[in-house]
Amino acid sequence: METEKLYYADPFLKNFTGKVLSCDAVKSGWAVVLDRTAFYPEGGGQPADQGSLGGVNVLDVHEKDGVIFHICEKPVEIGEIVAGILNWARRFDHMQQHSGEHILSGILCEAYYCDNVGFHMGADTVTIDYNTDISWGQALEAEQRANDYIYADVPIEITYPSREELKSIDYRSKKELTEQIRIVRFPGADCCACCGTHVLRSGQVGLVKILSCQKFRDGVRMEILCGRRALDFLSKTWEQNRAVGRRLSVKLFDTAAAVERLEGELNAAKVQQTQLEDQLFACIAAEQAGKGNVILFQPFLRPDGVRRLADAVGRTCGGLAAVFAGEGRQYQYALLRADGEDISLLVKELNTGLKGRGGGRNGLAQGSVQSDKAEIEAFFKQHS
Ligand SMILES: [Zn+2]
Repeated sequence: METEKLYYADPFLKNFTGKVLSCDAVKSGWAVVLDRTAFYPEGGGQPADQGSLGGVNVLDVHEKDGVIFHICEKPVEIGEIVAGILNWARRFDHMQQHSGEHILSGILCEAYYCDNVGFHMGADTVTIDYNTDISWGQALEAEQRANDYIYADVPIEITYPSREELKSIDYRSKKELTEQIRIVRFPGADCCACCGTHVLRSGQVGLVKILSCQKFRDGVRMEILCGRRALDFLSKTWEQNRAVGRRLSVKLFDTAAAVERLEGELNAAKVQQTQLEDQLFACIAAEQAGKGNVILFQPFLRPDGVRRLADAVGRTCGGLAAVFAGEGRQYQYALLRADGEDISLLVKELNTGLKGRGGGRNGLAQGSVQSDKAEIEAFFKQHS
C-alpha cells in the first residue's frame, strides 16, 4: 500500500500522527513504514527530512514504489499510532533552496535558451548546472530579476494535469517522467515538473544569491544560496569584511582599494629590501675575498636572498661559497662554485648527512636542511 503523502497536501505540516505498519531491521537502523507521513523522502535533488517518530530519531527517509521508509535509530511498535515531528528548520531551508532554484532556473532558462542539467542541494551550497555559457553579468541580472519576483510575493500553483492537458503546457523537465506528473508553476517565472516540497508564495524564499558561476562541461555550474542560508552566508562575509576594514582603518566599501594600496607598499618595500641586501652582500663578499672555501650563517633570508649572497661571495672567495640562513634546526642553503665545478656529489652527501633536500647544477645548488649549526659546520670540516 502506498504511503499517504501529507507533505503534498500541506508542505508546512510540521507535526502529524501515523500508524506504524511495519518496522524492519536494516543496515543503518530500522526501516519504519507508516500509513501516512509528512516526512519528505530524498528525491528530485531535495535531501530527505529528519526529525522523530514516537520519540525515536529519524535519520533518513526514502521512497520505493510509493512506499516511504523512515530509517529510525531504534525500533517502534507495529500497530501503534506515533507522533511524527519534523526538523522544521532543515525542511524549511530545503523548501527555500528548492523554490529559489526553480525561480532562478526559470528566469535563466527562458532568457538564455538553456536547460538546467544538474541540481544538487549540498550541506553548504546549492549547485545548478546549465548547458550554455552564462557570464557573471548575466547571472547577476537574472539574480536581480529572481529577487524582484520574490518581493512580488507571487502565490505558486501545483497541479496534476492529465496526459492530454500536459501537451498544451510548456514546462521544464529534467527527464521523461512516466508516473503522474506534478507541475510546479511560479506564474511568470517558471513551470517545471517536480516532486519536491515548495513554499506557498515566492516571498517565503526570502532572497536568492548567486555565489559563483564557472565553466562546467558545455555550460556553467552556479553555486547559489537562498533564504536564511543566504542571509547567514552574507552575514559571515560581512563580518569578515568588517574585521578587515577595522584592521585597515577604512570604511566597508574601501577594503579592496586599501588592500591594493597595501600590496603596492609591500612590493615597494621588497624592492628596497633587495637593494639593501645587495649592499650588505657586497660588503660580506669583500670581507671573504680570497679566503677559499667559505661557510656563512645568516638569520632568515628569502630563498632568492640566500642564492644572491652565495652568488656574491662565490665570485670573490675563490672556492666554494656555502650560505645557510635560518635558526635552530631549520636552514635554507645555497652552495656556489664560481668556476662551475660539479658539486652534485657534495650536495647528495649534504642532503644525506644533514637531513636535507634540494639540488642544482652548473656549480649552484639550493635547498634546506634539518640540522643545527654545529652539525653543518662538522659536515663541512669533514668534506673540505
Ligand atoms: Zn524541483
